[in-house]
Amino acid sequence: MSQSPTLLSIFLGLSALLSLYLAAWAHFHSRIPAAREFFFMMLGVAIYSLGFSIEISRATLEEVFQVIRFEYIGLAFIPTLVLLFALHFIRRKPLPKALTAFLLVIPIITLVMVFTSPSHQLYYANPRFAHTESFLVFTFEPGPWYKINSVWTELIVISAFFLLLANAIRAPFKQKRQAIAIAAGAFLPIISSIFYFLDLLPNQPGKIDVRYFSPAVMGLFFAFALFKLGLFELVPAARELALDSIRDGFLVLDRHRNLQDLNRAALRLPGAMDFSIGTPLPEGNPLAEQLKPLLVEDVGELEFSAEFPDHSIHFYHAQAYPIQTTTRRNNGTAILINDVTETIRLVKKLNQQASTDELTGIFNRRYLIQLGIHELKRARRDELPLGIIMMDLDHFKHINDSYRHLAGDEALCSVAKCFLSGLRDGDILGRYGGEEFVALLPNADLPAVIQIAERLRQQIENLSIPVGDKQISITASFGVHVFNANQDISLDELLNITDQALYKAKSGGRNQVASLTQTACDDEPEAVQ
Ligand code: GH3
Ligand code: MG
Ligand code: MG
Repeated sequence: MSQSPTLLSIFLGLSALLSLYLAAWAHFHSRIPAAREFFFMMLGVAIYSLGFSIEISRATLEEVFQVIRFEYIGLAFIPTLVLLFALHFIRRKPLPKALTAFLLVIPIITLVMVFTSPSHQLYYANPRFAHTESFLVFTFEPGPWYKINSVWTELIVISAFFLLLANAIRAPFKQKRQAIAIAAGAFLPIISSIFYFLDLLPNQPGKIDVRYFSPAVMGLFFAFALFKLGLFELVPAARELALDSIRDGFLVLDRHRNLQDLNRAALRLPGAMDFSIGTPLPEGNPLAEQLKPLLVEDVGELEFSAEFPDHSIHFYHAQAYPIQTTTRRNNGTAILINDVTETIRLVKKLNQQASTDELTGIFNRRYLIQLGIHELKRARRDELPLGIIMMDLDHFKHINDSYRHLAGDEALCSVAKCFLSGLRDGDILGRYGGEEFVALLPNADLPAVIQIAERLRQQIENLSIPVGDKQISITASFGVHVFNANQDISLDELLNITDQALYKAKSGGRNQVASLTQTACDDEPEAVQ
């Protein structure tokens, strides 16, 4: 086969430069799988191309041998490196060292053979220059090791290609393009040999043997696949990783309401195990039923709860996001499901803390007043009375002084419990001050309020409070008042009047119920003053 030495030298030189560039690129992208094998492979191709470009301009056999030795430092290893690269790429991890070493045995022997030529005929038999139409070429009969190395080379290159081809067929959708590009690269040396041996290329004078360049072009394919297509995969893979590591559930449905994707957190939701990709959410499935309004009705967000197999209940906030693409306004729906159990628990706890008296567990003054305003409005609207009882423990300072503050606390708790048990459902009890309590009794008129207060007074009087190893008793004074629907009066004013009634009970000798209003409860003159 004839070719112009100058043109061939130029192409081989360019091939060497390209290979060097790719080797350098691989060196700086060593995190990419198989980058190391790729680096050595391209270095080998660069050495071979450079050597060959020099070889064809040598004039003596000795000079040719010198250059060929240099060439083989690269050439001997290229096929094995292609296989190592393919295996690393497919397995996503390098081959075991022993196997790598085994695969390098033949290339090393070849290198030794070439370095020791022409002292033996094992590689190059009868090496000489032959005249072609335009220039001298180095020619020889293949020695036995030359033949072994040729078979080895073909075998290795074909194996690498078929392994990569099988990998490309098997590759999941997201890695397919990269796997195909790599397999196509590995096919180049094979196709170029086929073309060469079948002599399919037009036989014009000065034509270039394509086999010399196939390793460099193969490198270009590999680099493109590793870097460009690798990046295309990187972003979706990173997104998938992020979606799978978040605690929120994420589902994607197309415009036909077929499920297209769901992340790991979504799979953990009760009912999600029955979902399958490519089909609509199953009818009657508990989770599907909860999410239905987001898909069927035009609801943007909703809240729902789900029970887990361990009977724990979790609360969720689900939000639908319409997916818009450049071609279609509504291309499906993405649903983000947020577990808000902890938030709801904290809000409940905070609400409870904000409304409860820490010591006694009943409502605190602030919340009592808030509820009082609400009850007053309701009583006014429904034209119903609202009873108020204000209670203050008698000589409580004495309890504290005699039995210490902690005993006083225990007494306060016992009294609050006793007070609460004496009220109806719907009545409201709060701690109004240190040892002052206020009860609001919706729909209770004055006689009823007085009766309740009197009963409470007796219950507290009869209460036996354990303090250490002793039992103590306590009494309380009660002021009562009732709001009547036609009155134009505020809660503050009502409480003020009740406080005055309490003062009256205190000044009347304590342990009694008093009202400022003269009432129909004159049948209990001792209790009400
Ligand atoms: P009176 O019959 O006139 O009501 O006499 P009193 O001793 O109860 O007098 P007053 O109502 O003015 O005193 C309230 C006392 O209650 C003062 C305070 O030491 C005590 N006290 C207020 N809050 C608490 C509390 O949370 N724990 C305890 N142990 N004592 C409290
Ligand atoms: Mg008191
Ligand atoms: Mg007091």
